[in-house]
Amino acid sequence: MEQFTQTQIDALSALVDVDRFSTGQSNRELHIKDISPHQGKLPAGIVWPASTEDVSAILAYTYRENIPVTPWGAGTSTEGNPLPVRGGLVMDMTRMDRILAIRPQDLQADVQPGVFRKTLNAQTGRSGLFFPPDPGADATIGGMIANNASGVQTIRYGATKDYVMRLVVVLPDGRVIQTGGKAHKSSSGYDLTRLFVGSEGTLGVVTEATLKLTGIPVAHLAATVTFETLEAASETVALIMGSGLGPAALELLTPELIALMNREKNLGLVEKPSLFCEFHGVSEAALKETAALAEELCRDGGALTFVTGVKEKERRELWRARHEAWETIHRAFPGRETLIVDAAVPISNYPEMVVFSQRQLDEKNAVGFVFGHAGDGNLHVVMVGDPGKEGEWSTLEAINHNIVHRAVEVGGTCTGEHGIGIGKRKFMQLEHGEGYEVMKQIKGLMDPKGLMNPGKMFL
Ligand SMILES: Cc1cc2nc3c(=O)[nH]c(=O)nc-3n(C[C@H](O)[C@H](O)[C@H](O)COP(=O)(O)OP(=O)(O)OC[C@H]3O[C@@H](n4cnc5c(N)ncnc54)[C@H](O)[C@@H]3O)c2cc1C
Repeated sequence: MEQFTQTQIDALSALVDVDRFSTGQSNRELHIKDISPHQGKLPAGIVWPASTEDVSAILAYTYRENIPVTPWGAGTSTEGNPLPVRGGLVMDMTRMDRILAIRPQDLQADVQPGVFRKTLNAQTGRSGLFFPPDPGADATIGGMIANNASGVQTIRYGATKDYVMRLVVVLPDGRVIQTGGKAHKSSSGYDLTRLFVGSEGTLGVVTEATLKLTGIPVAHLAATVTFETLEAASETVALIMGSGLGPAALELLTPELIALMNREKNLGLVEKPSLFCEFHGVSEAALKETAALAEELCRDGGALTFVTGVKEKERRELWRARHEAWETIHRAFPGRETLIVDAAVPISNYPEMVVFSQRQLDEKNAVGFVFGHAGDGNLHVVMVGDPGKEGEWSTLEAINHNIVHRAVEVGGTCTGEHGIGIGKRKFMQLEHGEGYEVMKQIKGLMDPKGLMNPGKMFL
């Protein structure tokens, strides 16, 4: 649906305040691209609701009129998750951006979905608290909930699902429900909160969330560790994870990616297979002991160098460079698209997955960079190519296929954190078997007309 009738335009305009509904071409074009190679279909209009009541009234109307609706956060997804593939209405949540309450004594915050992660942390930081899930990009809380986002610190702090206590959700027909609550534990009924976390806007629109917060660590210590081979680097991951040192981040990078980062950011890092580690603790002194133990383990694993003692500014620079890995790769290949592998496996299988992935790139002569959140077995391969060049792009697709199949064979998943969107739908049956049919039944029950973010998650 690329155009609304005049009656529909009048009806939708009447449901929200002035300037909160648009059929303008530029607004529509701003909502058909995330960072994936996928392209949305031009929506017929964009709405920026202000409240749960707005969302409810809009969805009650679109349900009656059979209008597809696609929720939109910051549009930073990697799999086409927020792209309107059947046109219709895009519901941009970024103007529902109020932090409703920060309750330090409960370690909780109540927020609207359009609040950006960094904005929330700037506010909670005044009380010495933070919301740890960190996808690198400055995403909205609604988008993070919908994709169950996580990132470099997940090994210590967990993913978004571990921080969502309560949700207000508007269902596709306009009904409003509340899931979960503000008590830190509950055994009451089905866990509907977890059903909506990771549902990618296919079951309803989140309009409010109560999030858990945690204390900002007192002391941080970063270490960069180099190895002769990728095998040695990735095998050391299991040693560190099994040691009880509890790293806050444990990232693997290949020499090819480090070389690119050095060129772009002038970091002066040794261009060898590397681990970037971070430890959090109660004091600098305690962290010194942690570092000594970590170094011993890394040396046992064959480390060539183990560098700690980086100053706060350099530590931030290092992590910024790691967070910006995708942008760095993208900038180095102007005019190309990226296909991102996001498989995750048990950590004992991580070394073979890393080697397997690098070998796939080498054997097929493809441009790609292997890295990942090694501590939780999450592997990224950012591959670069031109979707218009049939042979080139199908090679990247074949590599993606092979890595995902290998990951699923060893009990892993096609996506550790980015979600299914459009790009990973083809792996749902493989990964979930009969469970995929149950997911389809849940979708059918909650969205019988198939109007909420259609074309995602299911083939
Ligand atoms: C450079 C870069 C690095 C990244 N690194 C990581 C990483 O390390 N880890 C990680 O997890 N992700 C990463 N991402 C992906 C992305 O940032 C996350 O998936 C993020 O959670 C998306 O949030 P968003 O606000 O951009 O949502 P969008 O992309 O706009 O939407 C995401 C999904 O949420 C739905 N949605 C949005 N708001 C609502 C709502 N209120 N109710 C219901 N559904 C809603 C949309 O329909 C869509 O399906 C990265 C992205 C970039 C650009």
